[in-house]
Amino acid sequence: MRNVFNSISKFIKRFTGRMPKKKTPCSYDPSWVVNLAESQMPEDAELINELKKCTKVVAYCGCGCGDPYFVRPHSEDWVFDHNVVLEREDGTDVILDVMKNGRIGGIEIGEWDKKH
Ligand SMILES: [Zn+2]
Repeated sequence: MRNVFNSISKFIKRFTGRMPKKKTPCSYDPSWVVNLAESQMPEDAELINELKKCTKVVAYCGCGCGDPYFVRPHSEDWVFDHNVVLEREDGTDVILDVMKNGRIGGIEIGEWDKKH
């Protein structure tokens, strides 16, 4: 268990370290999560297509974890529908917030119940 925690916190540190500090929209390269979806949910072409559009971060999670949002939380565009959980190569969960219109609102990394 300790190893799992260590690798997650190491990753989160690395991940947040790469994150720009400014709050204005930043560019994002979703190719890593597109690859996960293509290998784990190849039948869900809509999801894969929406993930490819996740190139502009509009906000970061308020808890400081560095998770990017592509739809501003609490705005009128944030109409949450469901979560999709993918698994990163190291076993870490990658949780997608999917809006009613199919847009990806956010990508959260880490075990769901250990965050937020
Ligand atoms: Zn967070």
